[in-house]
Amino acid sequence: MIVELISTGSELLLGDTVNTNVSWLAQELNKLGYTIAHQSVVGDNPKRMAEVFQLASTRADIVISTGGLGPTQGDITRNVLADSIGRPIVFNQEAMDEVKHFFDRVKRTVPDASRREAELPEGANVLHNPVGVAPGVVVEDGDTTYILLPGPPGEMKGMFHDSVVPYLMSRFGSQGVVTSYRYGIYDIREIDLENTLMDLIKNQSNPTIALLIKKGYIEVRITAKADTLEAAHELLNPWDAIVRDRLGARVGRDLTVSMEETLGHVLLEDHSTISTAESCTSGLVGKLLTNVSGSSEYYMGGVISYSNDVKHRVLGVPQDMLDTYGAVSEQVAKAMAEGARTVGQTTYAVSTTGIAGPGGGSPEKPVGLVWFGVTGPHGTVAHKANLIGNREDIRQSAAELALYYVYT
Ligand code: ATP
Ligand code: MG
Repeated sequence: MIVELISTGSELLLGDTVNTNVSWLAQELNKLGYTIAHQSVVGDNPKRMAEVFQLASTRADIVISTGGLGPTQGDITRNVLADSIGRPIVFNQEAMDEVKHFFDRVKRTVPDASRREAELPEGANVLHNPVGVAPGVVVEDGDTTYILLPGPPGEMKGMFHDSVVPYLMSRFGSQGVVTSYRYGIYDIREIDLENTLMDLIKNQSNPTIALLIKKGYIEVRITAKADTLEAAHELLNPWDAIVRDRLGARVGRDLTVSMEETLGHVLLEDHSTISTAESCTSGLVGKLLTNVSGSSEYYMGGVISYSNDVKHRVLGVPQDMLDTYGAVSEQVAKAMAEGARTVGQTTYAVSTTGIAGPGGGSPEKPVGLVWFGVTGPHGTVAHKANLIGNREDIRQSAAELALYYVYT
């Protein structure tokens, strides 16, 4: 079943209102197994709105709109739909009962303007509004089902769950299930990741595969649709094997849990402890680690060593090392981690030192360059990353990656 979503309202076009309705509806409909083929946004202009409805009817089985069901002259969606399918607008008693019911509840008489909310295209069915006044509208016309929902998100969501889902179920039956596996892939460039999975990307239909850039990692998502959950898993499993086989250790985690939880679990199991020495992330690594309740079992604390002076005096990074290699270097990253391990008396320690920008870059050390030191019972290693984005993106990505380097 192909669905098209139409968001109406000039405030959406102007960017004054963020179109949260469409993302919410798309997610809900996807969970129910419907395919969203198009989304359109149109202002409160009758001609343009009619064009959008007509186009949608040529390419979707179900057309769902939000907005424009209120009582004012600017609320035109009911009229536009009637015009575009060539039906008259008629008084609908069931809709009027809904409107009356609302005003009875709040102990008011129905205002004249609200009579408009009961004037629907001929042959329309009414959807109960559990929150506001305007009832929703369902019209079957030829091969197309139109569902008009109100704009206010609370009304739209309530109506969707209370009335639209039962309607879709009884009218179209179950659409099967859609399920996804999500992986966090670390330490790889998007282009390299894409090349690694190119055959899957090119041949996708069911399952589908998507790459999404996140802070410090790339999310790979494979999604399958089938009649049952077991059948969907059977479709996903061979792809899961390919992703794990090709990306091996770079698959940082199953994205149902965060990196800080994943790492915390490992440290807890091992009875290990960790400390941090942060320069460019200035506490973000510690913040991530302590997102997890119970992290006091393994996170002992950290040093925010933003200046060279603190790197030297508190963490014991040799002054001549700082002078020779600079703060953003492999040598200093390692020495910072070792210093933190000594100060914190922990099993492991991790450090970050980098250039978050926007200033401070140079050809040898560009903005986004970050060195990480990881030290533990088996010695000290350094990792280098060239991160992209603005200052905040770079700092957040670096904090996430620091945890990954401890984890691997
Ligand atoms: P009302 O009876 O309140 O006029 P309506 O069904 O006519 O409801 P609109 O007038 O289009 O709906 O929108 C009402 C309010 O709902 C808007 O001011 C806006 O805050 C919110 N809204 C509308 N569409 C969206 C959307 N797509 N995403 C998020 N909010 C929306
Ligand atoms: Mg309105």
